[in-house]
Amino acid sequence: MQLTPEVKAQLAEQKKDCVFCKIIKKEIPAKIVFEDPATLAVLDIYPATKGHTLYLLKEHYPIMPYLPVEDFHHLFGLLPQLTKAIKSAMVSVALNIFIANGGAAGQQYPHFLIHLMPRDEGDNFFPLLFNKKNKPLAQDKLQQIQSTLQQIMQNYFLSSPQFWHNSSGTIPSHLTSLAKTSTVLYEDEKVLCLLPTSNLIEGHIELYSKTEPYYFEKLSQTDAIHFFTVASFVASLQFQILQCQGTNLIIKSGITDDNKSGTLCLNILPRTQNDSLQSLHWEPKQPTYKLEDIEAKIKDKTWNIKYKIESPKEPPKPEPKKSSPFATLSSAQPSSSKALSVEDEIAKAIEKAQRI
Ligand SMILES: [Zn+2]
Repeated sequence: MQLTPEVKAQLAEQKKDCVFCKIIKKEIPAKIVFEDPATLAVLDIYPATKGHTLYLLKEHYPIMPYLPVEDFHHLFGLLPQLTKAIKSAMVSVALNIFIANGGAAGQQYPHFLIHLMPRDEGDNFFPLLFNKKNKPLAQDKLQQIQSTLQQIMQNYFLSSPQFWHNSSGTIPSHLTSLAKTSTVLYEDEKVLCLLPTSNLIEGHIELYSKTEPYYFEKLSQTDAIHFFTVASFVASLQFQILQCQGTNLIIKSGITDDNKSGTLCLNILPRTQNDSLQSLHWEPKQPTYKLEDIEAKIKDKTWNIKYKIESPKEPPKPEPKKSSPFATLSSAQPSSSKALSVEDEIAKAIEKAQRI
């Protein structure tokens, strides 16, 4: 997103009172469990689960669409390593990743951050126990999301070629039945994005990894960045097409009471003020154990975490058009070799869709 002088001034004002900006500047003490030049991870002082960690960029951005590409890649590229370290320190079998964009989605502070919550079977943590129903999305909205998402992804690959991409890929065995029973919105070699038949709310979209069935921490840096890149496009489309006021991105990974199969799934939920999903928001509670002990355990596992800047590789030659999932959307042309932010990609795709 291009920040106008007015938005920049608002952000500067927000930063002055931001608790997390003060933690980053070490003006407020916190249990810091990981730090590198661009990011910081601290223990939540009101943990939802034991080892609940908040992971954030040092630069102040209020919500995900504001993140510049480099910061987005750094933050989400490191996430599998951080997840692995926290799970290992807490000896947990599962972990939830929870993101709230906007007050309607339960965002508490204006500094964008990611909740990492280690989980175990029988841990009595119920807010993410999804009570799924069937609330179908209107056909015109579905088609609009499907065609715009495919257009966005086509533009994205043209402006940011990825060495691994030249087709829609194949469905791996762990996703075969899901792909058959749901409406596929988008797929490539690494992800499958679909509208599930049973959902939490109208417009609930699920994203699955084609490369890893169960554990988020097993995703490579490239795969994690791509997973969240697609998710952030979907979330922005929910804002624009479904006119929601906020979005939640919730990853379930590993076996818990609310994820019996253990399948790795990123749930992208459109939210409105006082909607039917208020039970997703947990109550803050004081820990019944010493945070210092948890801090020491996690720090012991995070010292060697490092973000590797990837050098761009030559893209493979595209396959013949008949095998392309975007055969009907072939009008898109590369307009820039520079990676664009989520908002810019979406604006470009919507503008193009209006011209067709
Ligand atoms: Zn801040």
